[in-house]
Amino acid sequence: MKILVVGSGGREHALAWKLAQSERIQTVFVAPGNGGTALDSRLKNIDISDPHALAEFAKNEHIGLTLVGPETPLAAGIVNIFRDQGLKIFGPTKEAAQLESSKDFAKSFMQRHGIPTAKHQTFTELAAAHAYIDANGAPIVIKADGLAAGKGVVVAMTLQEAHDAVDMMLSDNKLGDAGARVVIEEFLTGEEASFIVMVDGKNILPLATSQDHKRLCDDDQGPNTGGMGAYSPAPIITPQVHARVMREIIDPTVQGMAKDGIVFTGFLYAGLMIDEHGNPKNLEFNCRMGDPETQPIMARLKTDFVSILEHAVNGHLDTVELEWDRRTALGVVMAAAGYPDAPVKGAHITGVPAETIDCITFHAGTHLDHGNLTVSGGRVLCAVGLGDNVKVAQKHAYDAIDAIQFEGAQARRDIGWRALNKKH
Ligand code: ATP
Repeated sequence: MKILVVGSGGREHALAWKLAQSERIQTVFVAPGNGGTALDSRLKNIDISDPHALAEFAKNEHIGLTLVGPETPLAAGIVNIFRDQGLKIFGPTKEAAQLESSKDFAKSFMQRHGIPTAKHQTFTELAAAHAYIDANGAPIVIKADGLAAGKGVVVAMTLQEAHDAVDMMLSDNKLGDAGARVVIEEFLTGEEASFIVMVDGKNILPLATSQDHKRLCDDDQGPNTGGMGAYSPAPIITPQVHARVMREIIDPTVQGMAKDGIVFTGFLYAGLMIDEHGNPKNLEFNCRMGDPETQPIMARLKTDFVSILEHAVNGHLDTVELEWDRRTALGVVMAAAGYPDAPVKGAHITGVPAETIDCITFHAGTHLDHGNLTVSGGRVLCAVGLGDNVKVAQKHAYDAIDAIQFEGAQARRDIGWRALNKKH
């Protein structure tokens, strides 16, 4: 079978890498892919990004199944376009992707269906937004309604920061249409975790749990990023918490969408905040897998991924049982100089280690040109170590990170600290 993976990040490299392990695979195309997918002889990069052109390609190449990594093509309706042409694709329709592409949609949906989340109100008027902030005080969280590539959320610790954030979005228009409507919500405390499931319209299949590291620097300092590292499983998700998340957040979301007339298919990602008593609240939905969570999750998946996806697009996820590597997988991201504000491109990359049973290095912002590997994006590589415990997995990942070199490389040295603290 031929499969098409849409995207160019570390997430897509990991998805394509896993798919290529299936004996039933003839070719895995990646659109547009990166330096790592170019280096893997089992994968083939294609330079197409327009969803209509991708559907044309899928038809001409007899692609059996398409898998979409990032949110932008999903929000643009790539699933609708493929399905209209009778092509098999796993992901949410444009309508269902609103759970991620509009924070206002997601918040009113959660409120309507009794799904635990931070209290909120939505504003388009500047004066009303300022008055709400004054009435509620800081800390408080200001979110642009639309997709803003991680730049749309301001966790304001002071009133001034909160007022500045609404000015930036509603008055200065810094985020364009994405910030023309803002959600202002209650500041929640606790520990964050990523809870990702696959949905075929009615059946739900939970994947292994994971935890991301959003901040650029050690000790969770510095600016928010796309994610600087992740590991799986996440010890904070005990069996009790897992059962509550399924019962209180995931099940009512899938059922609620169906009740509202929007059948959800695809990956559903709940970004959780879990308080000290183990009560989960949903901070946000994503309608796709997380990056970098996908990298450790795929490193642990033992079941044939092609077969899982086939069951998913045919509505039979209820018959799938997943098998996971019992080891911990821990991924550390290496980012370019200047990331996240202004990543410097072009640096020459050396020392990327070959894959072993203990470590895989997935590529993201890399470009391969006549055998030369160079930096082409903010997050460059993600080294995933596997080990019988977090410490061993961490060592394997950092051995790879220490071997890789490029000018100005940035990596956190403490990925996994929460899980390590829990074990001792
Ligand atoms: P992502 O890149 O994960 O899609 P996003 O831009 O959609 O992120 P959110 O995940 O909603 O934004 O928020 C980003 C981060 O801001 C969260 O991971 C969390 O650390 C923090 N955050 C968001 N909402 C709250 C809240 N209500 N209370 C405290 N922190 C919050």
